[in-house]
Amino acid sequence: MKKEIVKPSYSKPYPDIITGCDTSECYIFDCLICKEKVKLAYKEQIFTNNEDRNITKEECDYLKEFYNIGYVGKSHDGGAPIFGKIYCEKCKANYFTYTGVSEPLNSCYHIYLQGIMLVERE
Ligand SMILES: [Zn+2]
Repeated sequence: MKKEIVKPSYSKPYPDIITGCDTSECYIFDCLICKEKVKLAYKEQIFTNNEDRNITKEECDYLKEFYNIGYVGKSHDGGAPIFGKIYCEKCKANYFTYTGVSEPLNSCYHIYLQGIMLVERE
């Protein structure tokens, strides 16, 4: 069973950030293991590839299935689903991240945070 910190929603009224408008750079949460602050950088979800986000194709496939992102391939907010993996600097616990990214206007991105979950050690 995966421990989810943020769960997807189809009905988030507003993006977590709109680039160019919001100054918030990161989503910050407490590590489930050691309580250290862990940061997810919003900008790293745009114009990056899986390698930049430290995630493999297999892990992306797993997350697509886990989050029920079907053949249409849209995120819960209707954007592009972006997956990544970040870790706690203190205890090295890994977290999968899931954001929905869309570009309703040229170069203005809406980013919805849709999922964060602890990757449990085997
Ligand atoms: Zn930690």
